[in-house]
Amino acid sequence: MPFTVHGLPVSQGIAIGHVHLISHALLEVNHYHVAPKHIEDELARLDDAVASVHGELLGLKAVTAAGQAHSEVGAFVDLQLMMLADPMLIDAARHLIESRRCNAEWALVQQMEHLVEQFRQIEDPYLRERQADVVQVIERLVKVLLGHPGHLPPKRRDGLGTIVVAHDLSPADTIGFRDHNIAGFVTDVGGPTSHTAIVARSLKIPAVVGLHHVRDLLEDDELVIVDGTRGVIIVGPGDEIVEEYRLRRSELEIERSKLNRLRDTRATTLDGETINLLANIEGPKDLPAVKNANADGIGLYRTEFLFIGRDTLPDEEEQYEAYRAVVKALPTKPVTIRTFDVGGDKALNGAHARMEPNPALGLRAVRYSLSEPKMFLTQLRALLRASAHGKLQIMVPMLAHAQEIDQCLTLVEKAKTELRAEKIKFDEGVQIGGMIEIPAAALSLGMFIRRLAFLSIGTNDLIQYTLAIDRSDEAVVHLYDPLHPAVLKLISGTIATGARYGLPVSVCGEMAGDLTYTALLLGMGLRNFSMHPGNILEIKQQVLRSDLGELAPRVQRILKMDEPARIREAVERLVG
Ligand code: PEP
Ligand code: MG
Repeated sequence: MPFTVHGLPVSQGIAIGHVHLISHALLEVNHYHVAPKHIEDELARLDDAVASVHGELLGLKAVTAAGQAHSEVGAFVDLQLMMLADPMLIDAARHLIESRRCNAEWALVQQMEHLVEQFRQIEDPYLRERQADVVQVIERLVKVLLGHPGHLPPKRRDGLGTIVVAHDLSPADTIGFRDHNIAGFVTDVGGPTSHTAIVARSLKIPAVVGLHHVRDLLEDDELVIVDGTRGVIIVGPGDEIVEEYRLRRSELEIERSKLNRLRDTRATTLDGETINLLANIEGPKDLPAVKNANADGIGLYRTEFLFIGRDTLPDEEEQYEAYRAVVKALPTKPVTIRTFDVGGDKALNGAHARMEPNPALGLRAVRYSLSEPKMFLTQLRALLRASAHGKLQIMVPMLAHAQEIDQCLTLVEKAKTELRAEKIKFDEGVQIGGMIEIPAAALSLGMFIRRLAFLSIGTNDLIQYTLAIDRSDEAVVHLYDPLHPAVLKLISGTIATGARYGLPVSVCGEMAGDLTYTALLLGMGLRNFSMHPGNILEIKQQVLRSDLGELAPRVQRILKMDEPARIREAVERLVG
């Protein structure tokens, strides 16, 4: 009898294929004593496994560097390489082998449990989550020691793909599977921002995660359908169901190829208004995706990804190269580069790391930048130098106070004066803008408008701070509501005030790339949307079907509502 299991949809699309169960290597580890004369051999086994995993990770890094996978994956691989080189891991395991005369896999698992316990006690949610990386590195080592590295499933001959079913998958595993005709991913654990989800999306492989004990419900080779759009898997479907899903899959493929045809079409509404659809990026590695979508420019370059996950900070030269690469790739289009937004859930390493009682409310973003003026000035110099090569704009995150803006502008002037004295070229007219992501900012726009050239609404943080919901805390994720009337008032007020004073306003939070909100934002008067480049074409399709003259009065009525269910229903009807 076919049955369905529900989980979280994290990567869209439909996959039909046969189950390939990935064993949970850590559960297979046994303990045995090693005779004193064999201790050296056991240490050598461990060293060989470390070398082998090191090689595997370097291989994966080469793949990500070649732009075949999302840039965040490269960061995960780097993190795992760092952990592999950390004495807390390998030296400690060596010590256990010698002192307890135990086998290498057992020593690794003991040390893993010790480290995971330490990570659990860390207050910072980002650092706490890194325990998953420790477990994944140890799991890779254990697989090598047990003699089943990689678990690569064979290619099938019946035209159906392989559905990888695992307790959890590391990003490295996920990329490693990419040449093996993998049709879908299914895991017991994980959420929309889990590593597997991010990699699956970047490889465009349908995935459903968070299915709890799904591994126990499935057998190797069993036929399953993965519906990555609805978050369902159908186990043992009959011919009729398979046929129905084949049909849906080809409809989706047709939709996708139709979308690609929109690549070179301008995003103009039915009543003739052109909308700018810009890309959010984390570095030059995202440029191919920006080109594929033919974005109208970069609306948000999150430069902090240059700073986090490393022990030494990038100097002016390294930063200049990264910013210049992006500006030069889009010479005629605006490139908005945000000054580093570290702190909060994006902590720096080593000497720059800080323990804070409440990171989301602490020394984050511009507050951090202003507390480290030397570091900030270095970034501003690099940005100004890159401005000589195209249409660069500088954007400052998380502003709330007039004096923060003034201090930033003073530092920009200082950087300009230095560069002039050194006869280094930059764009004298470079525009400086600010992000509206704190409710206080959205409620006191005058001081921003008087000082800045453009505004960008960071809805991710604006929602977090308006509703007092930590965006990285799973326990309150159900309360994170972009349609809360208070949030809508702050967003629409910012867009309207910007329009009144002729100051460009964009939205660069996740709302801008989510079809649920496109008509609503258009009706509020938004003309600049910045999003993950993978979302641009479907948002463009929605823009092409929209009539602003018709949307605007309907959205005005929604903004007067304060009953959530009515708001949701009215927003759904905007596109219905
Ligand atoms: C936001 O807060 O909406 C935003 C775009 O910035 P980040 O997600 O990087 O905090
Ligand atoms: Mg933000």
